[in-house]
Amino acid sequence: MQKGLSLTEISLNQVSKVYKEAKATALADVSLEIKQGEFFCLVGPSGCGKSTILRLIAGLEKPSAGEIKSPEEVSMVFQSGALLPWMSVEENVSFVCKANGFSTFKSEEQTTKYLRMVDLEGFRYRYPRELSGGQRQRVGIARALAVEPKVLLLDEPFSALDPLTTDELHKYLLKIWEETGKTILMVSHLLEEAVLLSDRIGIMKKSEIKHIVAIDLKRPRNDESKEFLKTLETVKKILENQNS
Ligand code: ADP
Repeated sequence: MQKGLSLTEISLNQVSKVYKEAKATALADVSLEIKQGEFFCLVGPSGCGKSTILRLIAGLEKPSAGEIKSPEEVSMVFQSGALLPWMSVEENVSFVCKANGFSTFKSEEQTTKYLRMVDLEGFRYRYPRELSGGQRQRVGIARALAVEPKVLLLDEPFSALDPLTTDELHKYLLKIWEETGKTILMVSHLLEEAVLLSDRIGIMKKSEIKHIVAIDLKRPRNDESKEFLKTLETVKKILENQNS
């Protein structure tokens, strides 16, 4: 967590979400508090409710019961960047700024600032099809940041990428997190990734958060160090025990 910050940014109080038509309980009585500037990861098997938590916080869905408090300034990063193919890199970022009420001048300023942050300023006139998967996702991150959100929500943002590109994007994300002090909530299906990046991990099973584990490893973290592997093993055991 960024130093000195301990205010609550997001809170879920006994939140449930039921999809009546599908007769699916996506979340059952989930309570969670995420601090300002915290990097929090949700992990757990497919269908356990991870994305539902993100969608509720983003305001894309309403809870069936319980209370959610989160800032209005929330941005979501999707799996493969979700860029509009007919717009250039620059337009993909600036149109979201304009849609959020920024002036043309401010939108251009924000676009330049955040494309620079992900080292893609030189690619601004390219189209998504002319970018690698990793570059597309970097544009997706720049676009999410350009509207100055307080919270960044990431739904398995790297799952379609190869391991080397994923390593590179982890570095970008950590750099951005450290530079901007944003609160980050990320869904991952890779425990290694969650341990590498986060302050705390919420381990989910069947619509519930079963455990919250604090990762007390110093940063920058080395995923080959003894301490890292030991922590990973501990978290893995917790996950396996609840799945057995
Ligand atoms: P995860 O992100 O962990 O894979 P989700 O949050 O996407 O899980 O889904 C949790 C549960 O809610 C699943 O059983 C899923 O089928 C159900 N669900 C999610 N979205 C909808 C929807 N729009 N309509 C009906 N059921 C849904």
